[in-house]
Amino acid sequence: MTTAPTKPSETKPAATDAQLLGWDPVFDELGFPQDPDNLYTQTVSTMLKSAEIINLRHRVKIILAQPKNEIMVHFPVKMDDGHHRLFKGYRVQHNNALGPYKGGLRFHSDVHLDDVKSLAFLMTMKCSLVRVPFGGGKGGIKVNPRELSPDELMRLSRRFTSAIAANIGPDYDIPAPDVGTNAQIMAWIADTYVNISASNRDVNPSAVVTGKPLEVGGSLGREKATGQGVVDVIKEMLPEIGIPIKDMRVSILGFGNVGSWAGKILQDLGARVIAVADHTGALRNDEGIDCHAMADYCARNGGLAGFEKSAETTATGGNASTGGTPISLDEFYETPVEVFIPAALEQMIKEREAAMINAKVIAEAANAPITPAGDRVLQQRGIEILPAILCNAGGVVVSYFEWVQNKSCVTWDVEQVDKELNRHMVMAARRTNLARQRYQCDLRTASYIAALEHIGKVYTVRGIFP
Ligand code: NAD
Repeated sequence: MTTAPTKPSETKPAATDAQLLGWDPVFDELGFPQDPDNLYTQTVSTMLKSAEIINLRHRVKIILAQPKNEIMVHFPVKMDDGHHRLFKGYRVQHNNALGPYKGGLRFHSDVHLDDVKSLAFLMTMKCSLVRVPFGGGKGGIKVNPRELSPDELMRLSRRFTSAIAANIGPDYDIPAPDVGTNAQIMAWIADTYVNISASNRDVNPSAVVTGKPLEVGGSLGREKATGQGVVDVIKEMLPEIGIPIKDMRVSILGFGNVGSWAGKILQDLGARVIAVADHTGALRNDEGIDCHAMADYCARNGGLAGFEKSAETTATGGNASTGGTPISLDEFYETPVEVFIPAALEQMIKEREAAMINAKVIAEAANAPITPAGDRVLQQRGIEILPAILCNAGGVVVSYFEWVQNKSCVTWDVEQVDKELNRHMVMAARRTNLARQRYQCDLRTASYIAALEHIGKVYTVRGIFP
């Protein structure tokens, strides 16, 4: 049972990220630069702390502390006005002890190698926690896709695919959508790969990516999968915390694929999404924002700005009304809710934001949305955090189902997808809870322990070549 969060003023003076991180001897052994603000160092540090608790073998720790392959490519793309622009792309393959590398592709102007490494590492942990037979990978291109025309975006996606084609494949490394990419981009990647790959006579080589449109081998239920998984975890964990879903107040940071689906599904279950923020602004409506109408609005307008009260009529029922009243980002964080869902980018919740958040539970839909300093403030205030490797694993679970369907030439109906997804999410939540009880730790540490125990056993059985 969670106690009510304390007020921001009651928190102790905070340590810096450097002090919080500690410095594991593994970092020195592997020659990590001493930059505690580095997302990769932070992510690996969480793993090493959890590994320490379960006495994970040193050799497994050092293998997991570094990605297996880091691929960086530069490639030219012809712009609509005829000039060529050079782009930088990445594919990081963190670990494949459990199966082929698996993870999204991000198109964003802030993509850096260390961020991609962190996200690839998190995929290894996530796949292990939900027990899908994939390893961890991630990739991206440093680009703002909103600045490109549809034709430029297509040429960029195809040229990037040709640049990394020798390093991906249906049995080797299987990308998927992430921030700034979507089903259309996956279709272009699959088509390019099928046309240039030496394995284009294999059974369904378009299994090289997941998150495809239905017409080219996508799975029913994939688009909503990550948001659905977030809700499955909330439904499994909240009764123990003592929060009923009906009329539960929710705020969501980031209203793209994951945030909007989580909002729509929670609204349909009777919750009230009362505050939403994205890169264009923030809105509040205590009666409940209509997430279905807002998702349609964002798809048409590129963001939620302007989706104000009575700007749109409610199309889909639920207990929500329409849009919201514009508020500042600080007011957004301070809005009292039972559940806050960060579903935007990494490291957005630092100490300052953590002190403002007025929620009982944070369900991490985004990857690594909270810095170590932010995490400490939230823990001091008694705010329960449902960790990202558990909460947002629904996407990779249904990606696995899509891959299974492609490989075996069958099609599942959405009921089967949802049922199997729910089973994986509930089992992963229970594994996390069990680890928490066994080791008396927070849920984040427990989720890493549950993931590491599985990988540790795999390395024990397989051994390390030669
Ligand atoms: P998306 O591109 O569809 O949406 C991102 C959202 O974040 C947008 O609403 C955008 O406005 C918002 N945003 C960006 N910068 C912001 C800022 N500075 N302030 C406020 N809002 C901002 O991306 P997505 O696929 O929904 O992914 C969101 C998060 O979920 C990412 O961390 C991603 O890695 C993670 N994730 C996604 C999937 C998936 O299946 N798409 C799976 C697992 C994890």
